[in-house]
Amino acid sequence: MESALTARDRVGVQDFVLLENYTSEAAFIENLRKRFKENLIYTYISSVLVSVNPYKDLEIYTKNHMERYRGVNFYEVSPHIYATSDNSYRSMRTERRDQCILISGESGAGKTEASKKILQYYAVTCPASDQVQTVKDRLLQSNPVLEAFGNAKTLRNDNSSRFGKYMDIQFDFKGAPVGGHIINYLLEKSRVVHQNHGERNFHIFYQLIEGGEEDLLRRLGLERNPQHYQYLVKGNCPKVSSINDRSDWKQVRKALTVIGFSEDEVEELMNIISSVLHLGNMQYGGDDGGSACITSDTQIKYLSRLLGVSGTVLTEALTHRKIIAKGEELMSPLNIEQASAARDALSKAVYGRTFTWLVNKINGSLAYTDESYKNSSVIGLLDIYGFEVFQYNSFEQFCINYCNEKLQQLFIELTLKSEQEEYEAEGITWEPVQYFNNKIICDLVEEKFKGIISILDEECLRPGDASDITFLEKLEDTVGSHPHFVTHKLADTKTRKLMGREEFRLLHYAGDVNYNVNGFLDKNNDLLYRNLKEVMCMSENKILTQCFDREELTDKKRPDTAATQFKSSLAKLMEILMSKEPSYVRCIKPNDSKQAGRFDEVLIRHQVKYLGLMENLRVRRAGFAYRRRYEIFLQRYKSLCPDTWPNWQGKLPEGVSTLVKHLGYKPEEYKMGRSKIFIRFPKTLFATEDALET
Ligand code: ATP
Ligand code: MG
Repeated sequence: MESALTARDRVGVQDFVLLENYTSEAAFIENLRKRFKENLIYTYISSVLVSVNPYKDLEIYTKNHMERYRGVNFYEVSPHIYATSDNSYRSMRTERRDQCILISGESGAGKTEASKKILQYYAVTCPASDQVQTVKDRLLQSNPVLEAFGNAKTLRNDNSSRFGKYMDIQFDFKGAPVGGHIINYLLEKSRVVHQNHGERNFHIFYQLIEGGEEDLLRRLGLERNPQHYQYLVKGNCPKVSSINDRSDWKQVRKALTVIGFSEDEVEELMNIISSVLHLGNMQYGGDDGGSACITSDTQIKYLSRLLGVSGTVLTEALTHRKIIAKGEELMSPLNIEQASAARDALSKAVYGRTFTWLVNKINGSLAYTDESYKNSSVIGLLDIYGFEVFQYNSFEQFCINYCNEKLQQLFIELTLKSEQEEYEAEGITWEPVQYFNNKIICDLVEEKFKGIISILDEECLRPGDASDITFLEKLEDTVGSHPHFVTHKLADTKTRKLMGREEFRLLHYAGDVNYNVNGFLDKNNDLLYRNLKEVMCMSENKILTQCFDREELTDKKRPDTAATQFKSSLAKLMEILMSKEPSYVRCIKPNDSKQAGRFDEVLIRHQVKYLGLMENLRVRRAGFAYRRRYEIFLQRYKSLCPDTWPNWQGKLPEGVSTLVKHLGYKPEEYKMGRSKIFIRFPKTLFATEDALET
């Protein structure tokens, strides 16, 4: 049999805290590589699970595997997403404390797959009753539906989630899943009207066109050819080899039924989806005065029927803008460019609001209304975009990276806090850990009156000459001296070479990112002309009447800007997460070509940095590498000492004390807490482990 020593050589350590050279990034990556080669995609940093996307199906998600991890101690089995799932579940059950599992990583790293594995684990292993089976089915079926409407093929991932998702799973006092609730964040609406080369619009459009029944397509006025639709041709990528739109349509259709959509609701939903496609195909021409007019009424006819609105009113709203001057309403004609922009804004608004409606509808079907609600506990799953740095970074990356700063804040607070709490609970002298607190960056972005978001909002509200460039100038005036903020004008010569004149750079905790200000004001305003809103409020489509509320028209207060809405939703998210006990899954993408077996070291080093893994390990190792409850420690190693074998009769700490003294542990190598032994260096533990083998 292979000795523990050579096995460690071959497959590395299963917990990074056991790395001798724990400050070395090279050693960290080498350990990942060894394990990846052996198809061991999971490794811990203490309780944090690091996962490397294998890009192939590994036989590790069977029912047998689930059983193997059920009720077993975290450390007795090899690292697995099921171990993390089970550990959270058991903590929830035994400590009666709400849990959350935070999954992060860049696009294509495997976050959504991980969250599905967790959900499947609970669906299979948790107790069930008839009523619970329905809930389990609905929980599972919410995925294909949300993915159809919220995921798309991008250059990085064929099934990329274009929204952030937080999902609560509620369990009753018996530990059976009885309900759920989903919160969605910042859907990338711009994709509805534009896709980069090699990318697609949201899956649902292609599913409907490829898979929709003949008579459905006829009713919707759709052709069975995605290339026919302006909103689907921009990326020149109608088909993707890894995706079967037709069978996906069948699955989504079934899922909608399981979730509780009536036939009518599905029809109304598809009316909206097809309307967006018709909107995109609208033909504009200009009259002599340069005003836009609609040259063919084909689309208007469909739209009028599908949305249940008057064709004349819609036509006017798509080519004019209502302005109120001196108390009088005037219709001012739009030019072609403005009319197309208004049309695109409508498409984005309709799709975005329908998506939110869909999430609410799913929530309605997952809602747990039982009397005993108060006794339920919750496990939350967060599947949200990781840190993004592209060649060109815009408003979306700004929001996403701000979100990651907030999550890092939470991580710092919760990990360091729990580390501290553990030392205190165990009566061990607290050793403060040095770390970078990124609160200063969060403040730079979100502080009232003087943070970047406030300044952006101010420019959005300011009438007159406000533009993306004046926004940049305001930033220079207001936060120019902030240590984490730079612009071309303010930079030293070296940095200036790396920056454009229309960019500002934020020095994020994970690295520096340049943001181009072009489009910031428009995206933040996210405006939809009033008369288009009015038309939508008149729609007879039952879903749209819920999406466009008439009250919005009479409300004098301006709606919050996109960034401010995002900021408040993040604040709420932080509150939710703070009240729970967290577990972390950090996902890593091994290469950019979606290939199995390729370990691209440069790319991985990048992610190890952005995920803050080295810092994480350092914090975890600042005190003790290893800690274990006395009974577990004794159980494992009692055979190594005649006094503790076969059973120790006395008090547990005394047993452990006797054992480690017999093994020759020096006083500086360990400390005895109230219920656990803390071991400072991995080598001490390895020696003990190796002794077991011989
Ligand atoms: P995005 O941020 O773009 O949504 P993501 O992190 O959610 O990305 P996933 O969609 O979960 O990424 O994973 C991308 C692809 O990688 C999957 O479609 C699947 O092909 C593969 N993959 C991810 N995790 C695993 C796994 N554990 N086993 C096998 N394949 C996987
Ligand atoms: Mg995803």
